Order: sequence, then structure tokens, then C-alpha cells
Amino acid sequence: MAWSWRHKLLIAGISGEKKIELPNTGAPRSYKCGKFDRSVSFAQDGGAPQTVQVEATIRDAWTYIIEKSAPSSACNTCFKKLPGKLRLTELLDGGDIVAACLVPGDGRTDNDVPRGWNDGKRLIAFGLVEVIRGAADKTSLAATMLHELAHLAGASTNARAARDEAIQAESVLKDCLLGQHFDPDALGTVFRRSRALYG
Ligand SMILES: [Zn+2]
Repeated sequence: MAWSWRHKLLIAGISGEKKIELPNTGAPRSYKCGKFDRSVSFAQDGGAPQTVQVEATIRDAWTYIIEKSAPSSACNTCFKKLPGKLRLTELLDGGDIVAACLVPGDGRTDNDVPRGWNDGKRLIAFGLVEVIRGAADKTSLAATMLHELAHLAGASTNARAARDEAIQAESVLKDCLLGQHFDPDALGTVFRRSRALYG
């Protein structure tokens, strides 16, 4: 029988508001946890403005994790090897997950925020650039979300650690049907102004 998830994905600004407390990222001048708007509009170099429906985009990506990654035995085995020693399904069975928006600090733009962040508990966050990418390819946003779930499962956030440790969270993508998005530069909490990487 297919695995199914009994809990909810709460989306800050969109659903589950009463249950959501937004944490301090510890780097509020650079990026904060905030709420999503229902839609985001953008234009690519001289192109016509496009609008992305935020909730549907996030839920499509999440459904990929629930229906493709979580039933995969290779993916669960890989999660079990992380410091939290939990299969992905066991991590998810711990309760609801909150998705928050990574909002740029004063004077920064959406292109400056890291691709993802997490509170080490049940909250994952990502910026609007990831949502826009996810509208074009749901597996792209699913990869960002799964990377952050790997941190919730104990994967190191120490970018200065030895390479195997620093790349732990990103490495799960290869075993979780998201290997096409594996980024060898996605180390721990590296953050540079000119190039936003994963948190
Ligand atoms: Zn990371």
C-alpha cells in the first residue's frame, strides 16, 4: 500500500495561521521568516509579467515529496543515516510541517536570500525565487524543501565542516528521486551577498 501522510503542511500567510509562530533566523538584516502572499508576479529580462499561484505551487512540490520521495526505500535508508536516525516517513509522522517565506532584510532583494532555511524543529523556509522556479518545475522546489527536511533530520548546517558532513543535506536528493537538482556547492549555511546558496 502506498504511504500516506496524516499531518498537514501549514503555509505561513495562507493556511494554519493560528498554529504558526515565525522564528528569528538569527540573521534578520539579511533574511527573515515571513508570510507568503497568495500570488507573486515577476518578469524575466524584458518579458511580459507572469503571475505564480503560491499555494498551488508549494503544494505540488510537497505532494512530490509525499508521493515520490517518502515511499522510496532508498530515500528512507538515506534519511536513517543522518544524525537524527529517522526514516523520512518517521520524520514526517512527527506532526505538521510549517513552510514560511524567506523575506529579504532592508536593502536586500529576493535574489539575495538563501535558497532555504530551517528552524531545526518543524519549520522550513524558502524564498520567492524558489517558488517561481517551482512553478516551472515542481521538482526544483521539492528539492529545496527536501534539503531543509534533511536538516530537520539532523543533517549538518556547518559549512566549514569536512566536505562529507557539510554536503549531508544536499546529498539526500540523490537517493530521493531528486538527484537532477543535486548542487555540489550547496554547503551548510554558506551565504554570500552576491550568490544565495542553501541555508
Ligand atoms: Zn543546507
